[in-house]
Amino acid sequence: MDEGSPTPAEKFRIRLERAAGYGEVWEIVKDTVAFSLHKRRSGMMLFLDDLPIQLGAYHPIGTNNIVLNRRLVQIVEAAIESKRVVNALVYNLLLHEYLHALGEYSEVEVRHMVYEIAQRCFDKDYIVTVIAEKSPWTLLKGIPLEAVSVPKRVMEIVKDFEKTDRYIV
Ligand SMILES: [Zn+2]
Repeated sequence: MDEGSPTPAEKFRIRLERAAGYGEVWEIVKDTVAFSLHKRRSGMMLFLDDLPIQLGAYHPIGTNNIVLNRRLVQIVEAAIESKRVVNALVYNLLLHEYLHALGEYSEVEVRHMVYEIAQRCFDKDYIVTVIAEKSPWTLLKGIPLEAVSVPKRVMEIVKDFEKTDRYIV
């Protein structure tokens, strides 16, 4: 490969660091899964809710929905103040649920796949892969959770989560 052209990992890292909002991170989730597993699923919807801190997100089986823990993301956002880290966290949580939505129901297997995909698409030392290896909750180390507890707010839908201009089979 010639020096000038970016590797797939470089391209994915640049895209993720520039991603503004859930919809753009989601496109990268789908593209990295297509790149590593040659699978793709469209028509998913994302909801944000304040969940118990131990829960990052969930996908109710048989639906097109993913529910992401807004509280967890906001705590990390406030404490770490790095878009790179927050996007890496959101990528990890959404990738996990996307693999469930693609039909992989084993927790152990999904965690392993998240790590494999992260390593393959972003390289092993990158923040996405470090979070995948250690678990997203390592980001909360040292943050006093009592201090940042917020009252439960209503669930909201993320508008324009999926691009509709893509071709659908
Ligand atoms: Zn899971």
